[in-house]
Amino acid sequence: MYIDPKGAAGRGTVFLVGAGPGAADLLTLRASRLLGEADVIVHDRLVSAEVLAMGRPQAERIYVGKARSNHCMSQEAINALLIRLARSGKRVVRLKGGDPLIFGRGGEEAEALQGAGVDCEIVPGITAALACAANAGIPLTHRDASRSVTLATGHTKDGTLDLDFPVLARPGATLAIYMGIRTLWLLLDGLTRHGFDPATPAALVERGGTPHCRTLTGTLPELVSQAPAWSMGGPTLVLIGEVVARGAKGARYRGAGGGATATSGAFYSASSTSPEMPLRRTASVTALS
Ligand code: SAH
Repeated sequence: MYIDPKGAAGRGTVFLVGAGPGAADLLTLRASRLLGEADVIVHDRLVSAEVLAMGRPQAERIYVGKARSNHCMSQEAINALLIRLARSGKRVVRLKGGDPLIFGRGGEEAEALQGAGVDCEIVPGITAALACAANAGIPLTHRDASRSVTLATGHTKDGTLDLDFPVLARPGATLAIYMGIRTLWLLLDGLTRHGFDPATPAALVERGGTPHCRTLTGTLPELVSQAPAWSMGGPTLVLIGEVVARGAKGARYRGAGGGATATSGAFYSASSTSPEMPLRRTASVTALS
């Protein structure tokens, strides 16, 4: 199917597309088709080379990636770029890791496009929580262990973690924390102040949805102490809840006192300055933002 880049109203269209967690075959068919028809692909840091290679060979690729404080382009500049490209009649794919509307500022871009009269079509992608849970064999919900899943961010701008801890600390639910590995101890601190059981099973899943996926399971206090040495700097999701001890690979979890258990896929190296590298408890949190 050919996409009319001017859109139904002749005003230009940007396709806000989820690239999934990394593996090309975890892309939706719609995303794959749009990539094959694009004139321009505007992409982020988390989009894998494998997915990017699925774009039309002649398509221009523009990297606007962000690594926490290291923004290669401001959000305003990205919005302006998308608007300009759409108005010039190009078939624009704005490609974002995972799902574009989950902690990816996709909502802000959609608003900016709408405000400029540019049509925006959103194509969902497999978000990190789903990919990581599948790789680690952790059921996000389980009739006997969890009846809800909360997606939250561990990102902090000012050194404090502004989360609804009384709600998050309740038992019988699953937490999936994005951008949380560097602020893991703040999470533990906030949760335990509100009645969280520190023996609750937890997992770190690095590079879920890729062949390089690695998992570390244990209690949250164990993960806090082991994360700095374990992390290889790739994007990492924190999963917390009784469900971590359930499911197909639940036997990996050894529980409180048993120490954390690591499982690993293929080896790869990462620089110690990588944005996902956890900071030790003694480090200054304000240095994160
Ligand atoms: N829109 C993305 C999330 C962007 S926020 C999505 O839907 O997945 C970036 C954070 O997502 C990372 O810091 C990490 O916590 C998580 N993340 C993204 N890709 C991941 C992956 N392949 N494995 C583990 N965590 C991932």
